[in-house]
Amino acid sequence: MSSADSAPLALDRPDLFIDGHWRAPRGGAQTDVVEAATEQVLGAAADATAADVDDAVGAARRALPGWAGLPIAARTDLLDRFAGELKARARATAALSSRENGMPIALSVGVNGYAPAMMVRYYADVIRNGAGDDVRASALGTRTVVRHEPVGVVAAITPWNYPQSLAAMKIAPALAAGCTVVLKPSPETALDAYVFADAALAAGLPAGVLNIVPGGRETGAHLVEHPGVDKVAFTGSTPAGRAIGEVCGRLLRPVTLELGGKSASVILDDADLDHVTARLADVSLVNNGQTCHACTRILAPRSRYDEVVDAVTETVAALRIGDPLDQATQIGPLVTRAQQRRVLDYIDIGVAAGHRLTTGGGVPDGVDTGWYVAPTVFADVDNAARLAQEEIFGPVLTITPYTDDAEAVAIANDSPYGLGGSVWTADEERGVAIADAIESGTVGVNHYALDLGAPFGGVKASGLGRELGPEGLVPYRRTKSIYL
Ligand code: NAD
Repeated sequence: MSSADSAPLALDRPDLFIDGHWRAPRGGAQTDVVEAATEQVLGAAADATAADVDDAVGAARRALPGWAGLPIAARTDLLDRFAGELKARARATAALSSRENGMPIALSVGVNGYAPAMMVRYYADVIRNGAGDDVRASALGTRTVVRHEPVGVVAAITPWNYPQSLAAMKIAPALAAGCTVVLKPSPETALDAYVFADAALAAGLPAGVLNIVPGGRETGAHLVEHPGVDKVAFTGSTPAGRAIGEVCGRLLRPVTLELGGKSASVILDDADLDHVTARLADVSLVNNGQTCHACTRILAPRSRYDEVVDAVTETVAALRIGDPLDQATQIGPLVTRAQQRRVLDYIDIGVAAGHRLTTGGGVPDGVDTGWYVAPTVFADVDNAARLAQEEIFGPVLTITPYTDDAEAVAIANDSPYGLGGSVWTADEERGVAIADAIESGTVGVNHYALDLGAPFGGVKASGLGRELGPEGLVPYRRTKSIYL
C-alpha cells in the first residue's frame, strides 16, 4: 500500500491530464459536480474543449510507438504498479464515486474501489501469460507468423453509473494490448476519473499513455471523429451509441458499444422464492436501479403469481433507503435531479396506464433533500406496455404473468434489448436450457453477477462487442499475418 491509502481525494480539479502532466483547459472552463444525497456542490472538474481533445489525442499518438514497443515484461510491470496505486486509493475512490452518483457504499467499494485494480492486474496477466504471436504451418508447406498488434489510440467514453469499473474495462485491456488511451468521463462523475491520472503518475506510466479530458457530449463527439483516433470504446445510452456507431461506420473505425438494457428475471414454477427475494436487490435494483443489466422485468408463473407478487412487494418495501455512505443503505439517491424526474415520470406513466402499484410510487416519505425515488413495483404489467419495453434506469420493477416456459422465454425475448437476464429454478439444467433460449449476452441462473474472467456485452439494441475476460482484449488488437 502507498501513502495514498484512504487519504481523501482532491475535489477541486481545474486541470486536464494530458501528456503526463496537469494543464488548464484552453477555455479555462470548469463544471461543478453535485453530490446526489445533499444536492450541494461537491467539487469542480475541468471542462475540455475540442482543442484540448486535439492535444490529448496528439499526446496519445506520440506515446504509442514507445508503449507498444515496450517488452511485455516492462509493460506489465508498469501495469502492476498502476494496479497497486489504484488499489491504494480504492476506499477513497469508492466514497467519492458514491457521493457523486448515489451508489450505496457497500457496492461502491467493490465496483468503484477494487475492481479497476483487479482488471488492470488481470489484463497484465493475460498478456504476460502468452496471449502473443504464434507461428503456424500453412497448407502450402510454408510458415506464417500471426502477430497481434495494438490497434492504436483508443477513445474511451464512459457514463456516470459505474464510472470507475466501466472506465477500467476499457483502459485495462487497451494498455495491456499496447494501445494508448484518451478517456472522456461523464461530467456528472468527472472527479473520480482523476484517480486514474493520480495512479498513472504515481506508477510512472510514460507520458501520454493515458490522458483524461472530462467534458460533455460535444467533447465526446469531437473525440469520436478525431482523425488521430484508431478505435472507440463506448458505454452509455442506446441513442448515443447509435450516433457514435454511425460516425464510426462512416470512418470505418472499430467501435465497441455497451448500451442500455431491460432484462428479465424468469421465475420458474419450482423456484425457491426465499432465495429469489434474498438476491432481488442485487439482481434487479442494484445501484438504485441505475444499472444497464438490472433485471427489472419480473416474469412470474401464473400458478404462483400472487405468491411472487407478495414476496417481491414485501422485499422491495423493506429495502433500506438512506445515505449512500452508510454501509447499511440498500437504496441511495439517483444521480441527478433530471434522472429523478425521468424516473418519477415513468411512475406516472405506469399509474396512468392502470398497472397495479404494489409499493413505492414516488419520493420516499420524509425525504426533502437528495434525488431519492422509493423502490417501486408495478404488477399486472403487459409486456407490451411502455414500462416493460423502455429502459427506466431507476428503482422501478414490473411483474408480468406467464403460463408456461415457452411463453416466459417469448416474453423475455420480446424486448429491443438483450444485455442481462436471470432464471430462478430448483433445477439447474432446466435453468440453463432457459438461459440458452434467452436472446442476451449474459444470463444468470439463480443469481446474476458479472464475472471479470468472462465476456460481458449485449445483443440487439444493447450493443456490439464484448468487454471482460480474455475476449475483452480482442478489440484492442489486430492481427497481421506474415507469410514466410
Ligand atoms: P449517455 O449516453 O448520455 O452518456 C454516456 C457518455 O457518452 C457520457 O460521457 C456522455 O458525455 C457521452 N456522450 C453522449 N453522447 C455522445 C455522443 N454523441 N458522442 C460522444 N460522446 C457522447 O449515457 P448516461 O446517461 O451517462 O448513462 C446511462 C446509460 O448508459 C444507460 O442507457 C445505461 O443502460 C447505459 N449503460 C450501459 C452499460 C453497458 O455495459 N451496456 C453500462 C452502464 C451504462
